[in-house]
Amino acid sequence: MREPPAHAEQSDSLIELEDVRRIYVTEGGVAVPALRGVSLSVRAGEFVSIVGQSGSGKSTLMHLIGCLDQPTSGTYRIGGRDVRSFDPNGLAWLRREVFGFVFQGYNLLPTATAEENVEIPAIYAGLPQARRRSRALQLLHSLGLDDRADHLPSQLSGGEQQRVSVARALMNGGRVILADEPTGALDSGSGSELMALFEELSRQGHTVIVITHDAVVAEHADRRIELLDGMIVSDTPTRSIARAAQQAQPSLDTPDDGAQTASSLADTWEAVRMAMRSLRTNPLRTFLTLLGVVIGVASVITMLAVGEGAKERVVDEITSAGANRLSVWRDGGRQAARFTFEDLDAVMAEVPNVESVMPELRGNETLRYGNVDREDVVVMGAYHDYPDADNWPVASGVFFSEQDDRTLTPVVVLGASVVDALFPDGDPLGKYVLIKNTPLLVIGTMTRKGGWIQGDRDNVAFVPARTSAIRLMGQKTLWGFQVRVEDTNLIDQTEAAVRSLLEARHGEGTFNIFNAIEMQEQMSEAVAMATMILGAIGSIALLVGGIGIMNIMLISVTERTREIGIRLATGARRSDILVQFLVEAMVVSAVGGLIGIVIGVGIGGLLKTIVPDLWMSFTGMPMIVAFSCAAGTGLVFGFAPARNAARLNPVDALAHD
Ligand code: ADP
Ligand code: MG
Repeated sequence: MREPPAHAEQSDSLIELEDVRRIYVTEGGVAVPALRGVSLSVRAGEFVSIVGQSGSGKSTLMHLIGCLDQPTSGTYRIGGRDVRSFDPNGLAWLRREVFGFVFQGYNLLPTATAEENVEIPAIYAGLPQARRRSRALQLLHSLGLDDRADHLPSQLSGGEQQRVSVARALMNGGRVILADEPTGALDSGSGSELMALFEELSRQGHTVIVITHDAVVAEHADRRIELLDGMIVSDTPTRSIARAAQQAQPSLDTPDDGAQTASSLADTWEAVRMAMRSLRTNPLRTFLTLLGVVIGVASVITMLAVGEGAKERVVDEITSAGANRLSVWRDGGRQAARFTFEDLDAVMAEVPNVESVMPELRGNETLRYGNVDREDVVVMGAYHDYPDADNWPVASGVFFSEQDDRTLTPVVVLGASVVDALFPDGDPLGKYVLIKNTPLLVIGTMTRKGGWIQGDRDNVAFVPARTSAIRLMGQKTLWGFQVRVEDTNLIDQTEAAVRSLLEARHGEGTFNIFNAIEMQEQMSEAVAMATMILGAIGSIALLVGGIGIMNIMLISVTERTREIGIRLATGARRSDILVQFLVEAMVVSAVGGLIGIVIGVGIGGLLKTIVPDLWMSFTGMPMIVAFSCAAGTGLVFGFAPARNAARLNPVDALAHD
């Protein structure tokens, strides 16, 4: 942003106050008039001292001149332009580019080095880092602080700290240096050194306004203004003012070189660096804040992985059972179709796109070998093509043939669990087992299937369909059967054809047909819903993490009010402060999000070793979503605290301790 040049006709004065008043209203509602009609004009290049008793309004006046505060009434023009015509960004521009503040208490950021403190105004001016650094070092050099550049304020003497703050005031040019009792906290030696420095700055063309108690100090100035009870009681030249006017710096609308590339916080990297630094200052707190987000993200992605795993498992089980099939069931009512093996033959022969048909013949029976019983075995009446159709090969021996089925041969093929139970240490082939007192010759065993949703799928015995129906169950009709289609894309047409064939044979409404693909879709939807619920539960943890961030950020803003004041006084825009705190919140939550993902996957791995049957599937999507949610949480929950920080009034923030 570059401020437009002052519009008013060029006035002789750089700073002009007309009947300026400032009335503070205390919390109790009492009005305290700190300035009661001050009129004053200061020309560019003047060196002015302001004296007066404590409480006479000197600091108030200084804050108004430096645009840290606004007059209650009266007019303040700078470079001929009314300060009321500047918006908040314009005022920040004035603080950044025109004024340089030197405070009695130095007001350096305690966690930043001398050099970094000096750089601050240039960060907000958008100066690139290399140039910022070299200018800061050059200023420190000219103030005799070369070897102190990387010291923290606490490692510097008062005089050194004050010179660092002078360097900061000069960083963006410092056309008007405002110093509020700068020597107040210094010993007399450092004090007179500092005053000599101000004199030198004045000679170089800076406009210098110094508040002081010290009469000797005031002697250095061109002009001495005395305040009493919020009014100017005397304004006397101490030397020739002519000198000042001659050497005056160019007026306000001539920009300094370099300092004009003002942009919002130079770049995001700068903001992230600042955030990292302030997060490092309080590691325990940062860790605890992180923890909330970590737990949130870890639980979201673990929950989603469990849900996703369940979904894959369901799809897998249905697909392994055959997604390419239609299930035909007789209706439950009185009109129930009485299907026969002839119906199955007819479907096979007459309906196109049918790969095979399979009768639904199953019952839970006890199998006996010798004197060992195996209860609750699923005895399935099947066709000879079952192993092919269901992708379930035999492990040993053979499956029965079509001939076995047609001739009601009493043979059986056993599932792996039944073999385990009845033949723990012998070969079952060639042995006879009893089902319902009918001896059946074991001619084969099935490979082990494993299984979860449908229970133990290996607890099974296959018997030829007709053998089962007639010899074991004593029934000629079937409850239902399955139709496998060749081309699943045509499954709807096949379903219609099967329907019309069976309606012709048994009548309408006597049976139902289920489509496996539809069933699979419905199941997947149901599981997806469950996954969402799990995810939502995880999100609650994330929400709690977010509230943690907000809480910490609110505390942090309160604690760092003074820092915010310093930043505002050195020219930060509201948006810079907002961005700074938002970035802090987002850095915490993003780092927490990353750690959360790692921990979530770790927990997943651990759970899997403890509960091997638990299916978990970590896919990229939930991680991206959880991470974005975490960063978004920082953004959302960091916003209110950041906005509170950005809205602070510079003087109020500086007065905070
Ligand atoms: P000086 O700097 O000359 O000591 P100040 O400008 O700080 O004086 O204060 C002038 C008067 O305004 C004092 O009476 C002081 O108590 C009052 N004052 C200053 N700041 C505030 C404030 N934020 N709220 C209420 N009264 C204030
Ligand atoms: Mg004061």
